[in-house]
Amino acid sequence: MAVMLSAPRGTQDVLPSQSGKWQFIEECARKTATVFGFKEVRFPTFEHTELFCRGVGDTTDVVQKEMYTFEDKGGRSITLRPEGTASTVRTILSNGLLSEALPLKLYYLTSCFRYEKPQAGRLREFHQFGMECFGSAEPIADAQLIASASYFFKVLGISGLKLELNSIGCPECRKKYHEALKKYFEEKNESLCETCIGRLEKNPMRILDCKSPVCSEIAKDAPKVIDYLCDECDTHFKKVQQYLDAMGIEYTVNPNIVRGLDYYTKTVFEFVSSSIGAQGTVCGGGRYDGLVETLGGAKTCALGYAIGIERLILLMQAQEAAFPESKKCEIYIAPMGEKASVKACKMVSALRDEGFFAECDLVGRGIKAQMKYANKIGAEFVVVIGDNEIEENSANLKDMNSGEESKISLGDSFIKEFYDKKLSAACNNVLSSLENLTK
Ligand code: ATP
Ligand code: MG
Repeated sequence: MAVMLSAPRGTQDVLPSQSGKWQFIEECARKTATVFGFKEVRFPTFEHTELFCRGVGDTTDVVQKEMYTFEDKGGRSITLRPEGTASTVRTILSNGLLSEALPLKLYYLTSCFRYEKPQAGRLREFHQFGMECFGSAEPIADAQLIASASYFFKVLGISGLKLELNSIGCPECRKKYHEALKKYFEEKNESLCETCIGRLEKNPMRILDCKSPVCSEIAKDAPKVIDYLCDECDTHFKKVQQYLDAMGIEYTVNPNIVRGLDYYTKTVFEFVSSSIGAQGTVCGGGRYDGLVETLGGAKTCALGYAIGIERLILLMQAQEAAFPESKKCEIYIAPMGEKASVKACKMVSALRDEGFFAECDLVGRGIKAQMKYANKIGAEFVVVIGDNEIEENSANLKDMNSGEESKISLGDSFIKEFYDKKLSAACNNVLSSLENLTK
């Protein structure tokens, strides 16, 4: 029983008291996507394992250690998506979206699954807001993409995030760089972890991203990819910086950023916070010009980023950022007796048809308990109706903020009268707060 009732390790329930935060972040994400011209894509929670082995790269931590892979009843190897980019590329290739007008700009809000050691900001099921742009090789696309992340953080009211930027070149510059890295790490061969020894031949750059303390210490003095950029990659990187400068987006060039996934080329970046502990990277992204081709499509330049929602929430809480309050019940109808309950049902239906947030008693409580409940849920107004009120076709409307009561008709004019009273109460509230301000 105890096992059944506890959520699996590394997962999180989002309770009603917290879900408003998620909704706010999702709204801001959708707003950002809209004003930058990105459209939503939704893809399956699981894919063929092969997609991530090829797409994310089989020398990465994600593929080697973190995937939730299982065989389904038909004997296929299936994996819960560990990230959204490979799924996005698979979706556009399966559905021929690259034949539409380019650039193709897509976003997703989705859950991801990685078998990691759970800790603050690191879960086994987590959520990402991702933006992906296909069909531009130009540095302006990199800068505009970064600007969209920056805009998103501004809309959320987050401050103090550091943008760290690097270029990891193209396969051409990578050849020379790999040689230099191999030479460097081969000399320290004995101290590297087992995974990294395996990476030495296949993909020495992955060693730079190893989380083992010994490997990361050794990696600190390794040759930097930025010193090996070919002319084209170097110019590209400089132009990205020029565009960012023109938009007033601050950044620092950090030659140690290589990113954890294999598909990146040229620009890579992270937005990092120093206020949420070790898991400070809120956003990671970059250009991945080779991925579409690797997954079987025509050569298509592309770039994107993903933002971890849980880390974002941790950060916003650490900064005491203001989340909008959830909407409160505008009117609560408190019936006494069966006849009044029927009337209450009709009234809340009519109110909701006009767009009001209206509730009535569902549990047959007495009037005192109903008032207590209305207070608890923060209802703005309450109308109590019983047989007398129905007979007189009028009742008292109680303003729960001021405590004032006034007569309201229960006839056809009810909604109009309620609307007027709500409006005048709101005006009075504004006036009294102004008075308080000027006192
Ligand atoms: P890290 O170095 O922290 O493991 P990563 O390079 O594996 O991050 P990405 O694959 O780039 O992360 O994912 C993008 C974003 O998704 C991260 O910046 C982070 O905000 C979030 N993220 C990644 N893994 C997790 C996780 N296990 N739990 C919560 N958020 C995560
Ligand atoms: Mg990781």
